[in-house]
Amino acid sequence: MMQRLFLLPLFAITLHAELQVRTDFEGGNAEVVTLDQSTRTLRIMPALREGRGWPCWWSFKLEGLTVGETFTLEVQAQSKPYREGTVLAAAWCQPKCAWLSLDGETWRPSSPGTLSAEKVMRYSLKAEGAQMSLAWGPPFVPADAEKLLAGIAAKLPEAKRFELARTHGGRPVQGIRIGAENAPHQVWVGSRQHAWEAGGSQVGRGFIQWYASDEAKALRANTCLYFIPIMDVDNAAIGAGGKEAVPRDHNRDWADEPIYPEVAAAQRMIRDIHTKHGLDVFIDLHNPGASDPIFFFGPFAFERMAGVQQRNYQRWIEIAAASIVEPLKVEPKYRFATYVKTDEERARMSSGWVRAHTGDATISVTLETGWNSPLMSVDGYGKIGAGLGRTLAAYIKENPRRE
Ligand SMILES: [Zn+2]
Repeated sequence: MMQRLFLLPLFAITLHAELQVRTDFEGGNAEVVTLDQSTRTLRIMPALREGRGWPCWWSFKLEGLTVGETFTLEVQAQSKPYREGTVLAAAWCQPKCAWLSLDGETWRPSSPGTLSAEKVMRYSLKAEGAQMSLAWGPPFVPADAEKLLAGIAAKLPEAKRFELARTHGGRPVQGIRIGAENAPHQVWVGSRQHAWEAGGSQVGRGFIQWYASDEAKALRANTCLYFIPIMDVDNAAIGAGGKEAVPRDHNRDWADEPIYPEVAAAQRMIRDIHTKHGLDVFIDLHNPGASDPIFFFGPFAFERMAGVQQRNYQRWIEIAAASIVEPLKVEPKYRFATYVKTDEERARMSSGWVRAHTGDATISVTLETGWNSPLMSVDGYGKIGAGLGRTLAAYIKENPRRE
């Protein structure tokens, strides 16, 4: 009897170490619902970050795996409301494929999960290491932004890094300026007003890497670019969704008195750029749709526009359709964010605010990528970003300020 008691647990340990979930890193988020060590089945839901928007993003490290063993990850919706009376639909946290990494750097999609009638997504996975990183999508956290900007600054001596603002959480919001301040053309590209939309920053990375390449030499010579890889740094750092945060999220904060210091700072800089030199292009990068393709949101008034303004928006979408072709083509026509119902709310979105505070020759658009596809890998998003760069180069080459 004594012997059996002693041997059983030892036998179990030899077979499998205990699975352990870790989220103590930037962007980490997972609330363990159940963890069955014997069947190697882990169920999580995105942890609720009170008042900080949609609980849809998850990212964690799983330790105690035995190489070669199969295990099951189940993902369900967060059961508590993220805003008064509103529970987020499960689909937002259930990508077709989970994203896996051994080193936290290289990410690949798992084979597709299966959705049960109870709205639980089940991914059957194979352990490739004793520890694996698992996430909703390829993550992009403030440390990635730092690394990206440091790399660009090292490559381009003329680039100048700047701190846009300090967040309420005391974190720096980093940016980079490439080109002379008084260059003939002025461009602003920003991303991640919605923290969960990590693909927006992945597109941004592809864009800025293209912008720093030899192919962009001519564009760099006559353009001043301002680039912000992550706007909502606080929520990206803690793995919160950000969207529909209380009382409002970053992309509803472009009011006369913004809540977020980084939004206020962006407004000040954009006003200043436009007053001194004229702003040519403003692009905000988003990554919202489960089943959507790649498209631009254009100005609500597009059909009623005339003259230079109409011409420039039209040229932009035509050039984009010819330039953003991988891994999927961008839609050749604008969509309009008609789900935003009031003029007051529309004016508080970044693209609307920029339109209202710049000139007829300025275009202000958002690029929206879908996330629920294995094509939306780091490489896939990067290609979209490079396509965006080529769009910008061809557009600026035509001189949008011409009469
Ligand atoms: Zn968004």
